[in-house]
Amino acid sequence: MNAKEALPRYFRIFDGKESPYYLICKGVPVSLSSDSDSDVLWKEHEEKVREVRSAKGPSKVANPNLLDLKLELGRRLLNPCRLCERKCNVDRLAGEAGYCRVKESNVTSKFVHWGEEPELIPSYTIFFSRCTFECIFCQNWDISQRDRGHHIPPENLASSIEGMLGGVRNVNWVGGDPTPNLVYILEVLESCNASLPQVWNSNMYLTEKAMSLLDGITDLYLSDFKYGNDSCAGRLSRVTRYFEVVSRNHKIANEQCEIVLRHLVMPNHIECCTKPILKWISENLDISRIRVNVMDQYRPQYKARDFEGMDRRLSSKEFNTAYHFAEDLGLNVI
Ligand code: SF4
Repeated sequence: MNAKEALPRYFRIFDGKESPYYLICKGVPVSLSSDSDSDVLWKEHEEKVREVRSAKGPSKVANPNLLDLKLELGRRLLNPCRLCERKCNVDRLAGEAGYCRVKESNVTSKFVHWGEEPELIPSYTIFFSRCTFECIFCQNWDISQRDRGHHIPPENLASSIEGMLGGVRNVNWVGGDPTPNLVYILEVLESCNASLPQVWNSNMYLTEKAMSLLDGITDLYLSDFKYGNDSCAGRLSRVTRYFEVVSRNHKIANEQCEIVLRHLVMPNHIECCTKPILKWISENLDISRIRVNVMDQYRPQYKARDFEGMDRRLSSKEFNTAYHFAEDLGLNVI
């Protein structure tokens, strides 16, 4: 199956035959009051998101609309922060920082990226500082584990996105990880009117509530699924409950929209990570809506040389084993 067959809606958006979800959201009216109980607002959100999924195009902008509701609910998830499964006990509305250290959203770079999967390029890629993980081999550790970049007012970033219309295929939100910046991203989209698919490029460690906010915003998940068990995830990315959370969120993402799923093959992790993940995907997801990128570009960067077994590049034998395993499972491998 080629990319167009696996990701039909994504292709229809940049062919101008459908609209990105976030523009449709703006045409869905809601009854929103800032003193409303959160449970009431979440219930309304759940009902209104169904309208987005079934709509073909945007109607006139409503006031208030579903995007406003998502923003209100997103702000409520900041105290205490419940954007990712670390669930830090900090008030980010008051400027406190949790595990990810994000206070204000800082953009480290934004540019037209030609290094992503063929169906994504050229991609207007927006990198944020900091991450919810601490992968010992992170190739972007200088931005994911350090304070870098600067804050861009949301309306300025929205103008920058609009200026890309006609020159790129999508907007690609990444980091580090975009999750700690979800509310800021919604603010950008409030000011934006570009008919471009929104790509959520992430480690997928979000809470279910944060995943709900992405429903009706994200047109394509560019997801990462690295570890086949919690022990490897704990040792190499300092994260708990990895498999439970990331597999759950892939199921949710699979219901929301199409996915390009990345699996970075790591040296000495074929049996414990690569094979269990690929098998899980084939048994638990609707693979007709997923493209799988089995990646061979592992490099022993950042702290990797201090970790046994992680201090070398992947062998061609390991990569071939991984690639053919994915093919034999019937996955749509890029
Ligand atoms: S996004 Fe950051 S502050 Fe919020 S729960 Fe996750 S690590 Fe903690």
